[in-house]
Amino acid sequence: MSWYTFVVQDGFGRNIDYLRVSVTDKCNLRCVYCMPPDGVKQVRHSDMLRFEEVLRVCSAAARLGVCGVKVTGGEPLVRRGLTGFIRALKQSACLKNVTLTTNGLLLSGFLDELLEAGIDAVNVSLDTLNKDVFRAITRSDGFEQVLYSIHAAQEASISLKINAVPMRGVNEADIVPLAELARQKNVHVRFIELMPLGLGARILPIPQAEVKAALTQAFGTLEKFEGRLGNGPASYYSAAGFAGKIGFISALSHSFCGSCNRLRLTGTGLLKTCLSSDIGVDLKAVIRSGGSDAAIDAAFRSAVMLKPAGHDFHTNQHVKKNMYSIGG
Ligand code: SAM
Ligand code: SF4
Repeated sequence: MSWYTFVVQDGFGRNIDYLRVSVTDKCNLRCVYCMPPDGVKQVRHSDMLRFEEVLRVCSAAARLGVCGVKVTGGEPLVRRGLTGFIRALKQSACLKNVTLTTNGLLLSGFLDELLEAGIDAVNVSLDTLNKDVFRAITRSDGFEQVLYSIHAAQEASISLKINAVPMRGVNEADIVPLAELARQKNVHVRFIELMPLGLGARILPIPQAEVKAALTQAFGTLEKFEGRLGNGPASYYSAAGFAGKIGFISALSHSFCGSCNRLRLTGTGLLKTCLSSDIGVDLKAVIRSGGSDAAIDAAFRSAVMLKPAGHDFHTNQHVKKNMYSIGG
């Protein structure tokens, strides 16, 4: 196996070394900020990229210097053949770091296969430790199953992060208990500022400063952690007596666009340049018109050069976009 050392830069001098890949729009939960209660309009099977097509894109990304791929969705574990795809990402696409983000419902049943496939880390999304609040947020049962998966992943020594979205009037009371998980175990708990995208635009976020103040009051001073954990934009803090770190991903109050390192591939093959923008390159068209590997590389490079300087969440309306298609 060889990893590529070249790194592609965008028009603003940012190194692009990370790709988020959405493998399905489908999900077994209906989170209020992401999916409508009745689920989503079915995308025709033939309109979705097949795994071998996604693999060609990821191989192109690796050739151009991308070293990390996050597999996301919808809920990636509902797509059949996912663990085989992850194995192929590690083995044939030569990706150094392949990680998964999941709602955790099906995770415990896939842990052995994921480890065998070479998964490097898993993020589990969990916004509450209260069963009733979980049902209200996800419009589903399954709270115990998610907790069980988290426990099983810890037992299996998988590198684990928990992602929570604080929402005004919904889960304020969970901020401290969720952070508490990082005290007891070496798991990093990250608070993601709700972005005004799709259904998320109808719910009020809780800004990072407020979350941090609540945590400081509960746990004492949070010390900035200067090391790097993973591929993402989170800023991390240590608290006294904590085994894991507390992280913040705050696109609105603490924009990280200046150091953004990523592109996003949707399930239907659009290589998106920014979460808040529809500008991108249709890689499905390139692949299905018989495009060579060189053509895919060139299309990937052109998407990199289309990347905007920053998001426009403050100025534009994004209610028509869907996080379940983009993958977060
Ligand atoms: N189903 C998987 C999961 O929930 O982890 C993967 C897909 S989900 C779209 C990825 C992440 O996006 C989740 O952590 C979710 O909480 C987050 N998310 C969804 N909508 C969001 C929004 N409007 N603002 C911030 N984060 C959001
Ligand atoms: Fe499903 Fe994840 Fe969206 Fe929740 S956030 S509805 S788990 S895709």
